[in-house]
Amino acid sequence: MKTIEVRTGRSYNIYIEHGIISEAGKYVRAVSDAVRAVVISDSNVAPVYARRVTDSLAGCGFETSLFVFPAGEQSKRLSTIEKMYDFFFEHDLTRSDIIVALGGGVTGDMAGFAAASYLRGIDFVQIPTTLLSQVDSSVGGKTGVDLPGGKNLVGAFWQPRAVLIDPDTLDTLPPVFFSDGMGEVIKYGCIRSSSLFEKLEKENAEDIIDDIIYECVSIKRDVVEHDERDTGERAILNFGHTFGHAIEKLGNYGGLTHGQAVAVGALMLTRITEKKGITESGSAARIEALLKKNGMPTETEFPLSDILAATRGDKKSTGRSLNFIFLSRIGECFINKLPVAEIGSFFDSE
Ligand code: MG
Repeated sequence: MKTIEVRTGRSYNIYIEHGIISEAGKYVRAVSDAVRAVVISDSNVAPVYARRVTDSLAGCGFETSLFVFPAGEQSKRLSTIEKMYDFFFEHDLTRSDIIVALGGGVTGDMAGFAAASYLRGIDFVQIPTTLLSQVDSSVGGKTGVDLPGGKNLVGAFWQPRAVLIDPDTLDTLPPVFFSDGMGEVIKYGCIRSSSLFEKLEKENAEDIIDDIIYECVSIKRDVVEHDERDTGERAILNFGHTFGHAIEKLGNYGGLTHGQAVAVGALMLTRITEKKGITESGSAARIEALLKKNGMPTETEFPLSDILAATRGDKKSTGRSLNFIFLSRIGECFINKLPVAEIGSFFDSE
């Protein structure tokens, strides 16, 4: 068992342990006196894991019910949240009860947002079951839904009471979801840990997955503790994301997965900053080799001009400028604020 404490406005623990999903009740009971627990899951995850979680919760004295929504990013909208509210109301959920998010990023983001807003906020626990949600989205308290105009445009900062990470759930994950998570894993190595990056170069990710999860969560914890509300340093977690979001958008969210798009975005950006002498030479080649090793794409069909045009709609823009995260070398990065008016000339002048 590995435990990571997150000291945000309200502190909580992240537990990493094989088989912890079957003991969820014990961990939820440790942070909650609730009478009722609502488990929120999607149509892919619920048939495989929900029973284990609801049985465990019931065994620890919770009156337990299960809300299941259709799997996929298309469900990540306010109409699904409204169905959750109705479900909470029908099941007499009170402010002292608890919500358990069981699934990937979409589930955690939505269950967290429903928890943040129902009765002006009730407790929730995250049980992330994909690599991406285990290393990234379940940690840090960002919750929300998409609008037709863009992803994650409505949401709240709402920290969970605990996060239970069971690496065994990755065994049932289709390969594309593993590479989706690896995009964010490689990102952590790039921005903060040359030793993690080197480990990924030497070893097979599957063989050292517990270590990888622990290191990524630790990095995210450190960053989030310094900047819970995302007004400064937390921006470094968006390395590769400005181009990545543009690539996802240009593919109408049906092309590359989020993690794959982020990885390709990080590589494209690093090729450019390396040519400009901002990033240590050889870095882009190392990132490219690592992506290939993990079965990930290294190119996108979209020209840079289209990607730059699409970045204008990125919500990470502050006023009239966009934050770009540049690597100085593998394991070190810095935030570079580029006025929107100068983005074209900056990237065209390479
Ligand atoms: Mg991301």
